[in-house]
Order: sequence, then structure tokens, then C-alpha cells
Amino acid sequence: MSSQRSLSPVTVIGLGPMGRAMVASLLRSGHPVTVWNRTEKRADHLVAGGATLAPTPTAAVTASKLIILSLTDYQAMYDILGPVAEGARSSGVLAGKVLVNLSSDTPDASRGASEWAAGHGASFVTGGVMVPAPAVGGSGAYVFYSGPRAVFDVHEPTLRQLGEPRYLGEDPGLAQLFYQAHLDVFLTALSSLLHATALVTSAGVPAADFLPGALNTLTGIPMMIGDGQDLARRLETGEHPGDLSTARMMGATANHIVWTSERAGIDIRLPEAVRAHYDQAVVAGRGTENWTVLYEIIKSGG
Ligand code: NDP
Repeated sequence: MSSQRSLSPVTVIGLGPMGRAMVASLLRSGHPVTVWNRTEKRADHLVAGGATLAPTPTAAVTASKLIILSLTDYQAMYDILGPVAEGARSSGVLAGKVLVNLSSDTPDASRGASEWAAGHGASFVTGGVMVPAPAVGGSGAYVFYSGPRAVFDVHEPTLRQLGEPRYLGEDPGLAQLFYQAHLDVFLTALSSLLHATALVTSAGVPAADFLPGALNTLTGIPMMIGDGQDLARRLETGEHPGDLSTARMMGATANHIVWTSERAGIDIRLPEAVRAHYDQAVVAGRGTENWTVLYEIIKSGG
């Protein structure tokens, strides 16, 4: 570990579970850390651990060149930094600062925020943390980034304390796009796990008899469909040969899942959405092709 004097100061704004984990990791690595949070008492534990609590957002911004934001969405950033940037006596506070926003929102929100920051003389880097809060800073943690490369490179050693940085490109929307796309997979999988568990428990079967096997199904998907490169090649060529299974066969099963769920009296919106993709493939005359043909249906807007 390096001494605190040799490492650059960092400000972290937003002390939910994620922001608190980031601060803890930065403190462990020896960075001097200034924090600010709307609900001040969430900083107590961090201050006891060596962080400095800024009394105002302006003081937090002033304390470091690098300002990391970990908030619910981008509106929270404007709520906090808007008055800092635009207040009558605070003009210039953001000039020369580097804002690294690791909050969830849309790619367009990230691009808009980058322009907003530039309008106040600040640089803006978008990030998306790809692990849960307790894993921040540990092995296996990684974070997507996009934005100005030269700015990112300067702060990469500090950002590395949060997890392995994966830089995607200059477009500030890219990291947000990757974050949302991964969360698309994650959130849909989580809902499917809960839906399937509700289906099984509606028949009086304990969840514990089902979930370990269900998780094996999830982790077995690459074995069943090929790795990411294989799948990407098939989607990019637009060829979906139905020699081993077809959209019609899979669609019949999708239908059976809806009927079974209806009979069980549980929510059917998730399996209905899946069934709709297969129905559309069949209606489009592509029922004899592989399930990957759904990609064409989804891309076309349904
Ligand atoms: P929380 O919702 O628990 O915390 C969000 C923070 O935003 C809090 O500090 C909250 O302040 C602040 N905040 C929200 N709205 C405002 C506002 N209008 N004005 C001022 N402050 C505001 O989120 P997490 O810490 O869990 O997550 C932060 C970000 O990290 C999110 O974008 C999330 O998607 C992402 N993320 C989280 C993961 C996790 O495991 N938690 C995993 C990967 C990514 P206050 O304390 O006063 O409410």
C-alpha cells in the first residue's frame, strides 16, 4: 500500500451501498477521500474509517480534481451539481474537474451530461459497475468506461481500485449502453428465476428442491447454445438453420409455459412476452428456422 500523500485525492458523491463500497476500496488503497451525501449520516462509518465529510456539494467538488458520482440516476447528479455549477457565486467551480459518473441511466443521458459538463469546463467519463457492491475492489470486479481517452488514462490507476477498468471508446453513451445491455440479461434472468420458482412452489414443491437445478440451467446455457463468439457469428450472418430445433417447436413450449402459469394462477406477463416473439416468427413464415431467428423479430421492432 502507498502512503496517502503519494496518491491523488478523490471525491465520491452518493453513499448508497455502491458509493460506500467505492469509498471503502479507495480508502483501503490509500487515497485521501472526500465524501458528500444528501443524507449525511450515511457517511458516519466512512468518516470513522478515514474519509472526510464535505459540508456542501461545492466543498466536495472543490476538494479533488476527480469526482466520482454514484447515484440512483443522472437527475440526482443535476440536483446536486446543478446549483454548484450554476449558482450565482459558484461559477467556475466545475472548471477543470473530471466527473466520472457511475450511475445508471440511458446512453442519451450520458451524452447529454457530457455536453453539460463541457459547458461548465469539466470533463465527463461514463461508467457502469458490473458487480454488486460487496464485490467492488475485489478480484473479478470490473467496470465499463467510455469518454475522452486521454482523461480516462490519467485517472485509470485510481479507477482501477474499484475493479478492472474496461474502456470502450470515446462515445460517452457506450459504457451506459453496455451496462444496460448486461443488465438486460441479468434482470430478465432474475425475473425468470422468480417466475419459475413461483410456478413450482404453486404445486407445493419447496423452492429449495428447484432452485439449484434452475441455476444449473442458467450456467449451462453456453454449453447448449455455444459461446459468445459462436452465437455472434450466427446472428451476424443472419442464417438460422433449424436442423436441430425450430422456432415452431420452441414456440409450442413457450405456449405451454403460459398455459401452465395461467393454471397455477401466477403472473403470466413474462412468459407471454417470450411467447409473443415465437408467435411473430411463426407468423412471419420463419417457424422452421432456429430459435436465433427471434433476433430478426426483435431487431425489427416486433
Ligand atoms: P442507492 O439508490 O441506494 O443510492 C443512491 C444514492 O443516490 C444515495 O446516496 C442517494 O442519497 C442518492 N440520491 C438519489 N437521488 C438523489 C437526489 N435527487 N439528490 C441527491 N442524492 C440523491 O443506489 P446504490 O448505491 O445501490 O447504487 C448507485 C448506482 O450504482 C446506481 O445507479 C446503481 O444502478 C449502480 N449499481 C449498483 C449496484 C449495487 O449492488 N448496489 C451494482 C451495480 C451498479 P440518499 O442517501 O440521501 O438517499
